[in-house]
Amino acid sequence: MVDVRISVIGGGYVGLVSSASFAELGHNVSIIEIDKYKIETINSGRAPIYEKGLDDLLSKHAGRNLKATDSYDMVADSDLSFICVGTPPGPDGGADLSMVASASRSIGRNLRDKEGYHVVVVKSTVPPCTTEKLVVPTVLGEVGCRSDDIGFAMNPEFLREGMAVYDFMHPDRIVIGSSEEEVGDLVESAYSGIDSPVHRVGIKAAEMIKYASNAMLATKISFSNEIGNICKDLGIDVYEVMRGVGLDHRISPHFLNAGAGFGGSCLPKDVSALIRLAESLGEDPILLKSVIEVNERQPVRLVDLLEKRVGDLGGKEIAVLGLSFKNDTDDVRDSRAIEVILDLKEKGATVKAYDPLAIPNAKRVVSDIRYCRSAAEALEGSDACLILTEWPEFGALDEEFDLMKSRVILEGRRILSCKDAEGICW
Ligand code: NAD
Repeated sequence: MVDVRISVIGGGYVGLVSSASFAELGHNVSIIEIDKYKIETINSGRAPIYEKGLDDLLSKHAGRNLKATDSYDMVADSDLSFICVGTPPGPDGGADLSMVASASRSIGRNLRDKEGYHVVVVKSTVPPCTTEKLVVPTVLGEVGCRSDDIGFAMNPEFLREGMAVYDFMHPDRIVIGSSEEEVGDLVESAYSGIDSPVHRVGIKAAEMIKYASNAMLATKISFSNEIGNICKDLGIDVYEVMRGVGLDHRISPHFLNAGAGFGGSCLPKDVSALIRLAESLGEDPILLKSVIEVNERQPVRLVDLLEKRVGDLGGKEIAVLGLSFKNDTDDVRDSRAIEVILDLKEKGATVKAYDPLAIPNAKRVVSDIRYCRSAAEALEGSDACLILTEWPEFGALDEEFDLMKSRVILEGRRILSCKDAEGICW
């Protein structure tokens, strides 16, 4: 077992899951975070976010080989520092790299007096050339003249929220981008104990692999939605169709579920950032633009379908079941449910929403709707119901729909077993 000293900058979904997993692999890990609540929660052995298995890892390692702090001092005592801060969309849809720049400055300042070799690893999703043109000069600019002992690498993360700990420990592949072999070797040593192919590439290729992967996943979803919309017009079950399509090993059965579109903190922003990048190079990425357009239309189609079923939404009570962008997470970033709720409100409907995990996060984004403690409470007296997250507990709902004024049930995600639900594209 190689024992590597690791500092992780940013204790969010990626940083915290990576840190807890590196600790489980036997490394000494310091999480450097700016949010005091997150620091306290992590150090008390609990996770500030919901992720299956994360609390167990934190209670096992916090205070032992894992600690969180707001001080960058630990960078100087580590061999590797992983940048895991957010790269949200900027005003033009391109990636906002200000947090990456700020983390790079702080790392550089704390490497000035470090003895021995150190590798700065970018794990945040960043556009190709960011490591080379932003991170390297920013870190070295702060370090000053002593730069021979500092290496740089890019190691994109592919975990799925809801399955993040499992995915980190059982990845399909580990991608490591570096320009020097020994730098890549040191990064690879942090993963020793994980059984996975390791794909060693250049730094820019590693950055691009992440964007291209997310663009492919988003394309599969928008493609399935477009086929689904056609299937609905023809009275064909799109799920039967895509099961048949996915049996082709060149296509695979994953990410072919038609529905209300993709959300979350990654796919929408990463495809938009790739579009902006392509445009800045003089390209016209028409396929990627269509992927986003299909995705933006799906929530609108669901509300159109609702209006066809119940008429003018003014004064109607609509139950929305599911707020997170997918099941098994409390993350509502770019959730289709939030888009739909905003549309319903604008059209004068009263919204009653329920989600098993995501209500606290949803409240920060939409405050003036009624949040309910159960699906039944949301359904009682409602004119219609929209299913927007594929939570397994919704699959068993049936009699609860009798609590509604009338059983108008529309699915944006295919999960129900009752026969009278109508799907957005089935
Ligand atoms: P997040 O917003 O959950 O976490 C980022 C954390 O960084 C926050 O806790 C924030 O307080 C902290 N932070 C910001 N600036 C800081 C600084 N200067 N120093 C220390 N801490 C700082 O974001 P996330 O979802 O973990 O995503 C991080 C990166 O990983 C993004 O680039 C994202 O695109 C990428 N990514 C995310 C996922 C995912 O499923 N969430 C998957 C793969 C890749």
